[in-house]
Amino acid sequence: MAKMNDLGHLLGGHSLQSACGILLDFWSKYRALFPQHELRRDVDAGLKPLSHCLPILFHGDEGVTYRKSGLLVLSIQGIFGHGSSKRDENFRGATQGIPLNFLRTGFQTRLLVCVCPKELYSDDPRVWNAIFEVVVADLARCQKEGIAIGSGQEKVFPILLGNKGDWSYLVSSANLERSYRRAPKGARDDDHNVSGAGICHLCTCGQGVDWEDLNAAEAEMERSFVEELPPPWFRECAMTRELLVDRSPNGKARFHLIDPWHTLHLGVGKSWVACGIMMIQKFLPESQMDARISFIGSRYKNFCKRKKLDPVLRKIDWRTFGSATEPSGCWNKAAVTSNFMMFLEEFCEEHRDVLQGDERLRVFAAGTMRANEFMRGIYSHDVLIPRDSAMYLSNCLQDFFKAYLFQAAAAYNLGLAYFGLFPKLHAVHELSFHLKKDAQRAGYVMNPAVFSCSMDEDFIGRCAAVSRCVSPRIMSKRTLERYLCHIQCAWARN
Ligand SMILES: [Zn+2]
Repeated sequence: MAKMNDLGHLLGGHSLQSACGILLDFWSKYRALFPQHELRRDVDAGLKPLSHCLPILFHGDEGVTYRKSGLLVLSIQGIFGHGSSKRDENFRGATQGIPLNFLRTGFQTRLLVCVCPKELYSDDPRVWNAIFEVVVADLARCQKEGIAIGSGQEKVFPILLGNKGDWSYLVSSANLERSYRRAPKGARDDDHNVSGAGICHLCTCGQGVDWEDLNAAEAEMERSFVEELPPPWFRECAMTRELLVDRSPNGKARFHLIDPWHTLHLGVGKSWVACGIMMIQKFLPESQMDARISFIGSRYKNFCKRKKLDPVLRKIDWRTFGSATEPSGCWNKAAVTSNFMMFLEEFCEEHRDVLQGDERLRVFAAGTMRANEFMRGIYSHDVLIPRDSAMYLSNCLQDFFKAYLFQAAAAYNLGLAYFGLFPKLHAVHELSFHLKKDAQRAGYVMNPAVFSCSMDEDFIGRCAAVSRCVSPRIMSKRTLERYLCHIQCAWARN
């Protein structure tokens, strides 16, 4: 890549020379945020010049290949990118301009590391483990020894700062024993030792600490920053064993990142929207529920048309929102949640006088607005968010979290199965807490949007599409070969 002047694909379009300033700036702020990161030791010993350390992230997910079977796709990506479409140019001066990695196609901004058909690892966990051992051993060697570029002694050091992906991938790749999967779902769970297993890899909430209790959970999260907790795994994954990590308490657990997009828009946001719509429709004048929902549906489509958004859903009726007794969002595109959140903000504003009379609706309108402020905020900022903005965004998210808990309690008191308390809600709490905590420790925080996987879905989709066009007998090899052809075209177009 260096020879062909292609390192820009990991550096937001900059060459190594022109990125020198932002690399030094990024690492000095990163050091203030994570003073105990092991990179510091190597840099202080003169082993690595920071101007040649490339900050990268690891991403994994499953795509869909032949006959709807799964395909594991692992990739790396630069933290620096070309920005996001929502980027606010006013923030540029404040954060020295390190744009997010959301623009351009997946093939231009992500680099494929491995593809493997699911049938090869689904029945044999040794295959899954071996893949990670091999990939990480390679990355660890690059990180330790550096990669020679040019003819002289010059080297670059890719520094992997975290592992991201959807929740299911995080659990499998990090061998998490404490995760959303261990949340008790029914009364009989106690008999099967499910309750008390812990729902969060970052803290021990769920293991005797009630994550639904705001103060107790916050005290527990605070503890995770000062005291080493029992590791969330029995067998530590290769990533935190082999690579440079943050040596502060539980720094290894924090290597596995929380994605705000999966947590909100593919998580609690769906339940929030569906329950909110079922709550609001009762206050509309039409006599039948079907008519009231289709009124909301047509208003949603108008909203999307006006804002030039893809409504994704062609038909909207009560089934879209589960049922009137137990609402849940029956869609699997995050864009639907994000569209509905924006639409509901406007809809609640327009119907203000109707909503004012009911406390639950008032809280719903306010919570929706705060969640939107958070999402808009993180996408409009750069990679590093200054302290004041981070505090503000943390408060936005916390207000949404509190509004959700209020709705859950109110529904419970009314005997309604609305606003279920999902473990992802605790991840929302963690996100908000981390923003606040980091903002207090340093002048800047890492933008949670850096850990969002929305763009990575595009990359996975492209790789999976390639895998469907090659011989299924040697799929991994052929997919990698075709991928190289594709990026040659994509990179040549730059
Ligand atoms: Zn936690």
